[in-house]
Amino acid sequence: MKLSTRFTWIALSTALLSAAALVVTLLAADFAYRKSLWQAQSEATFAANASWPSILHYRIAPAAEREFKLYRGQHAEVAWIAAKHVDGEVIASEPPLGDQNPDALLERSAASRLEVLHSTVEDSTLAATSYQGALAGLPYMDTMFLLSVPILSPLDPLRSDVSLDAYRLAQSKYDGVGARYVVGYLDQGIYLGDIVLSVATSSGKILGIALLILLLVFAFARSHARAISKPLVKMAEVAQAISAEEVPAKIKLPKRRNDEMTEITRVLNSVIDGLQRMRTKMEVDRSLMNLRADSSARKLDKATAEVDRTRHQIHRVSYFDPVTGLANRRLMLEHMSLLMQIASRERRHLGLVLLDISSIRRIREAMGRESSDEVLRKLASRVIETVRESDLISHEPMAQDIARLDSDEFCVVMHGIHESEGAMTAAKRLVDVIQEPLTVNGESVRIETFAGVARAPIPARSPEGLVRAADVALNAARERKNGYPALFDNEMDERGSERFQLEVDLRNANYDKEFYLLYQPQVNPDNGALLGVEALLRWRHPSRGNVPPFQFIPIAEQSGQIEAVGNWVVRRACADLQKLKSEGKAPPRVSVNMSSAQLGDAFVRVVRNAIDEYQVAPGELGLELTEGILVESVESVIEDLSILHNDVGVHLSVDDFGTGYSSLSYLSKFPIDELKVDRSFVMAMEQDANAHQLTGAIIAIGQQLGLTVIVEGVENLKQLNLIKALGPVGIQGYYFSEPLGLEDLASFVVAARDSEQQPENN
Ligand code: C2E
Ligand code: CA
Ligand code: CA
Repeated sequence: MKLSTRFTWIALSTALLSAAALVVTLLAADFAYRKSLWQAQSEATFAANASWPSILHYRIAPAAEREFKLYRGQHAEVAWIAAKHVDGEVIASEPPLGDQNPDALLERSAASRLEVLHSTVEDSTLAATSYQGALAGLPYMDTMFLLSVPILSPLDPLRSDVSLDAYRLAQSKYDGVGARYVVGYLDQGIYLGDIVLSVATSSGKILGIALLILLLVFAFARSHARAISKPLVKMAEVAQAISAEEVPAKIKLPKRRNDEMTEITRVLNSVIDGLQRMRTKMEVDRSLMNLRADSSARKLDKATAEVDRTRHQIHRVSYFDPVTGLANRRLMLEHMSLLMQIASRERRHLGLVLLDISSIRRIREAMGRESSDEVLRKLASRVIETVRESDLISHEPMAQDIARLDSDEFCVVMHGIHESEGAMTAAKRLVDVIQEPLTVNGESVRIETFAGVARAPIPARSPEGLVRAADVALNAARERKNGYPALFDNEMDERGSERFQLEVDLRNANYDKEFYLLYQPQVNPDNGALLGVEALLRWRHPSRGNVPPFQFIPIAEQSGQIEAVGNWVVRRACADLQKLKSEGKAPPRVSVNMSSAQLGDAFVRVVRNAIDEYQVAPGELGLELTEGILVESVESVIEDLSILHNDVGVHLSVDDFGTGYSSLSYLSKFPIDELKVDRSFVMAMEQDANAHQLTGAIIAIGQQLGLTVIVEGVENLKQLNLIKALGPVGIQGYYFSEPLGLEDLASFVVAARDSEQQPENN
C-alpha cells in the first residue's frame, strides 16, 4: 500500500472515529436531554393538573384513566403510565397492568419508596409488555426507562375524614406554604427503542454536523498526512532511486521546520551528496579505466607491432649484415653446414675464402661511418659480381654465398669445387677486385686486402672449423704481405694456436721489462756519415726468449695492441735519444716505425708530449709510415701527418716503398721527407736488370719530389755499388750495421763521426 493511501486511510479512519465519537456523544447528550426533557415535561404536566393529588388521595381510578388517555395521546412514546398511591396501591394504569405491581417494574423497595421525593428515571425491563416499536428486534431496544414523578399534596394522604369537595376547596386555597405530603406517584415507562427513534428523528442535524466535522477532520488529517507523506514519498523515491543505482536530486529542506523529517532529509541529502561524489568518482574512474583500457589496447597493438618489427629486425640482424645486406656469419655457418653435407654426399669439396679488409677501420675513423659503409657496399657488390662469374658457385644464389664475417672480413663459400687451386684462383681474383681503386665522396680510396683460403672436408668437417682454418690462412697471408691468398695447411694451424698464445702474452707483457729498442744506422755511403737510426722493437719474452717483430707486430696490429706498443716505442726512442744527446753521442735522427692503425689524434698527442718531455729538437724524431696509410688517401691522414710534420717537426718517411702500389701520384699529397726502398729491390737487383732499373726510377722520382731516399737491406759491397751507381741515397743494411743496442749505437755514433771526418782530413 502506498504511503499516501495509508495516510489517507489513517486520516479517514481518524475522521470517522472522531465523527463517530462525536455522534455518539451528541446522541448520548440528546438522549440524556430527551430523558430529562421527558422528566421535566412530565413533572410540569402533572403539577399543572390540579386534579392529580385528589385523584390519588381518593383513589379515583376512572379519573386517572381518563387523564392517562389524554396524556398518552400527547406522548405516544410513553409505553405505559400508572398512578400509585403512596401506600403502594396501584390506582390505575394505561394500558392496564393487570396483576403486575409497578413496584416490581420499578424494582423499588418499599423502604426506599419514602425517600423518593423527586421524580427519578431508571431503566428496567418490563416483563409483561414487550417492545413493539420500529426498532423492535434490535438488542437493548426493549430496555425500558422508568420515570417516577411524585405527586405532592398539602393533606396527609392517610386522612380519610376530609371530603373530596373539602379537599378540592382546601387545595384550591392552598398557597404553597406549609408542609406537603407525597400522595402518590405517577410512574411511566418508555422503551429505549422509542427514545432512540425520537433521537434519530432529530439526529439528521447531528449527522450533518458529524459529516462536516468528518470532512474537516479528513481534510485536515489528509493535508497533514500529505505534508508528512510527501517528504516521505520523496524519500521513498530517493531510496528507490538509490537502490536502482541512480543518483537522485537532493530533497528540498522545508523552510522553518526542524523536526525529525528535516533531520532525516538532511541525512538523506548527505547520503545523496556522498553518492554524487562516489558516482562522480566512479565515473571518473570508469572513464579513466576506459581510457586506460583504450590506451593499453592501443599500446598493446603498438607493442605487438613493435614485437613483430623487432622480430623481423632480429631475424635480419641475426642473419644479415645491415650494411651490405649480405648474410652474416651465423647464416653463413648454417648455410655452410648444409652445403658441407651436400658436398660430402657428392664427394666434392667446399672452399672458403676469407677476405681481410681491416683498413676499413681507418676509413671509418677518418671519413665517418657513412663513407665506410658506402665503401663496404661497393666492395660487397664487387665481391658478388666476381663470384657470380665463377663457375664454382653458379648453382646457388650469390648473396647467400658471400658473407661479411665482421666489419673487417668478407667470406665467400664456394661449393662443388674439385681442386684447391680453383678456390685459390677465385681468391686471388677477389683480392684484385677489392684492391682496385674506388671513389667515395669524390675521393679515390684504395683498400688493402688479404685472403685466407680453406677447403672442406680437409681440414675441417664443421663450418666453424673451416672458418677457423681460413682465418689461420688469412693471418699467414697478412704476414706474407705479398698480395697472394694463403691456403690453409697444418703447419699454419700450429702457428695459429701459437699466435693466439702470443697475443695473450703480449697483452700481459710488462713493456718496460720485456721490450727494448735496437737502433739500425742509416749511413751516407759516400762518406760514412750517420744520417740517422731506425728504432726496431724487440720483445724479450720471459719464457720464449726473443720474439722477432715479424711475429708479434702483426699480432699487436690485429689485436688492437699496436697503439700501446707504438706509444711505448715513441717514448722510449725519445728517452734514449735524450740520453745519447746528454752523452754527446746521439745520432742526428731516430726514426720510429708506425703502423697504420696507430695514426690519429691520440698518437699526435703522444708524439708531442714525448718531444716536449725529452726535449727532442725538430727533425730529430722520424716516423716511418707504410705505404698503406698513404694509399688510402684520407683527409684526416693528411691532416694528422701535416700536424706531425709541420707543427711538431717530425721527419716523415715512407717505409717499404715499392712493395705495395706502384702508383706514385699520392706522394705529392703528403708532407713526406723520405722514401725507404724495400729490401726486396736490393735482393732482386743482382739478378734482375729490370729491378735495378726500377730502383733507379724510384730514386730519380724521389729526387724530383725533393725527397731523400734510403735503400734498405744492403748486405754487401756489390749491392752497395749497384745502388751507389743509381744516385745519391742513404744506406740501411747489414753491410754497415745490424740493429744495435744503445751502448753499441753510442760507439757507432762516435766511430761514424771519426770516419766522416777522416776523408775530409785525408
Ligand atoms: P722494417 O721497418 O722494414 O725494418 C727493417 C727490417 O729489416 C728490420 O727487421 C731489420 O733488422 C731488417 N734488416 C735491416 N738490414 C737488413 C739486411 O741487410 N738484411 C736483412 N735480411 N734484414 C735487414 P726487424 O727488426 O726484424 O723488423 C721487422 C719489421 O718489424 C720492421 O720492418 C718493421 O716493419 C717492424 N717493426 C720493427 N720495430 C717496429 C716498431 O717499433 N713498430 C712497428 N710498427 N713496427 C716495427
Ligand atoms: Ca721501418
Ligand atoms: Ca722497411
